[in-house]
Amino acid sequence: MVSASVAIKNLLVPAKFVLIGSGLAGGLLAAYLGRRRYDVDLYERRSDPREGNIVGGRSINLAISTRGIHALQQIGIADEALQQAIPMRGRMIHDKSGALHFAPYDVDPQKCINSIGRASLNTTVIEAAQRYPNVRVHFNRKCSDVDLTGPVCHLETETGTLTVSGDAVIGVDGAFSAVRASMQRNIENFQYNENYLAHGYKELTIPPAPDGSWQIEKNALHIWPRKSFMMIALPNPDGSFTCTLFWEFEGRRSFATTKADDAVRRFFDEEFPDAVPLMPTLLEDFKQNPTGSLVTIRCAPWYYRDRVCLLGDAAHAVVPFYGQGMNAAFEDCLVLDECLNEFSDNRERAFAEYFERRKANADALADLAIGNFIEMRDKTVSRAFRSKKKLDHLLEAALPGVYLPLYTMVTFTRIPYAKAARRARLQDRILYTALVMLAFVGTAALAVLFGRSRGH
Ligand SMILES: Cc1cc2nc3c(=O)[nH]c(=O)nc-3n(C[C@H](O)[C@H](O)[C@H](O)COP(=O)(O)OP(=O)(O)OC[C@H]3O[C@@H](n4cnc5c(N)ncnc54)[C@H](O)[C@@H]3O)c2cc1C
Repeated sequence: MVSASVAIKNLLVPAKFVLIGSGLAGGLLAAYLGRRRYDVDLYERRSDPREGNIVGGRSINLAISTRGIHALQQIGIADEALQQAIPMRGRMIHDKSGALHFAPYDVDPQKCINSIGRASLNTTVIEAAQRYPNVRVHFNRKCSDVDLTGPVCHLETETGTLTVSGDAVIGVDGAFSAVRASMQRNIENFQYNENYLAHGYKELTIPPAPDGSWQIEKNALHIWPRKSFMMIALPNPDGSFTCTLFWEFEGRRSFATTKADDAVRRFFDEEFPDAVPLMPTLLEDFKQNPTGSLVTIRCAPWYYRDRVCLLGDAAHAVVPFYGQGMNAAFEDCLVLDECLNEFSDNRERAFAEYFERRKANADALADLAIGNFIEMRDKTVSRAFRSKKKLDHLLEAALPGVYLPLYTMVTFTRIPYAKAARRARLQDRILYTALVMLAFVGTAALAVLFGRSRGH
């Protein structure tokens, strides 16, 4: 009798979702839930990004690729979001002598990743959510705690405190999630692991040329690989590039020891001589811009009964070297939406399925992202690496649909991350065995020939 009345209530009254955090994933998730006619209240600690605050205080631009674009397409906002995006067709490697090497991302030149502004993308997803009359967005509301059983959220506002409740709370509040912290405090055996890299990052700028054009190749992701550290640059629509220096926090040469103007200048002159003349505000940028940290966060479970759930960086922050954190967060929105649809009368089952479908993939992505840091900063400059990339592209062209390089699977397909990682390991093993056999057959053939000629 009770369950029948609950079922009837579920049919008649749409569930109310409280979302904490209107960053990239929060806005998109609100749009998905709004489309499903749920009642949605989205609370964000910052002011409205349309009023000019820098979203999340993090990278100004990011790379969006197939997974992220697909999630935007499903809600009909991909074209709008990509209007200002700049396609990047490959990596432009800058070696210390200033020589350039271009390595396309894929054998198909149409396949590219896109540099997109964080603030404009954030605005696009929030506005998509606000098109649904059942979605309300509230800025300047910071969640301090969640009572999981309610569920009830305690919020701090400019004028005091506020308590809000709903049928379910979703923590979309980023790597340092308050919702996750409440789960950690209140769920027995909640698993949590955070891992900081020894490297931090600092954003710097290459401004546009006087005529407004891009001073280095526009349609590329630029990398200055220097073994234990690196700098990268992504293009912006105004002709500028946002550069990011990834460098050790501590050590003989590091953020800690390089503070004085002449030390900073010397470091850049030695390591990035071709970039320095393009960076007139280098010293000001270096001093004024914060040094960010890079963290991998793994936790489990991502939900509590049918009451609370985590999504995006709140569930699985990864380091940015595969350019997939946001793409994965957008993919989460799609999967949670699918699960809520499949198990529309059992929200706990929907949350559990979403966790089941995403967790192994998030863990695989975390490992891939760390691996790609080593590849970008250390290997991209080597001839062996460039030859392997060429071989990858040759095999991809020769065996379409059979051989797919790892980067292609992660960036240009929606093959689950864990499956992509497994398939790449298998491909590498087969390739290695084939090369060893080829070398063996070649050596044997030479030995036979050599033996014969000696016999004569
Ligand atoms: C340097 C750098 C470069 C990156 N480059 C890329 C890239 O190229 N491609 C890519 O796919 N990913 C990239 N990422 C990762 C990407 O930024 C994140 O994965 C993505 O922002 C996650 O989205 P999110 O909505 O989960 O979290 P966030 O974007 O962090 O949003 C969380 C939101 O919650 C709000 N919030 C936090 N706490 C509270 C609270 N207590 N109460 C209310 N609101 C709160 C925050 O203000 C914020 O608006 C990069 C990350 C970094 C650091």
